[in-house]
Amino acid sequence: MSYDICGICERFYPKDGKDYCPDCRDKDQNEFNILRDYVKQNYNAKVFEASNATGIPINTIMRFVRERRIHLTGGDSGSITFRDK
Ligand SMILES: [Zn+2]
Repeated sequence: MSYDICGICERFYPKDGKDYCPDCRDKDQNEFNILRDYVKQNYNAKVFEASNATGIPINTIMRFVRERRIHLTGGDSGSITFRDK
C-alpha cells in the first residue's frame, strides 16, 4: 500500500487520490459548510468577521481561497464569495 502526506495535518494516510487524510477531510467539509452558512446570512462578510463569528481559523479560510473554493472580492481583506451560490 502506498501513502500520501496530508496537506493539512502532515500525517501519513493510505493514498486514495485525495489531498487530505480522512480526518481532515471531514473537518474541512464541516468547516466549509459552516462558513457557507455564515456567509449566506451575512452577505459581504469579510475574512476576519467570518473567522471571529464561526471560530474557523483565518489560515483555513485562506486555504479555501487558495484552493479556489471561495473567492475574495477586493483582495485579502475583501468580502467572501462562494462560487456555488
Ligand atoms: Zn490530515
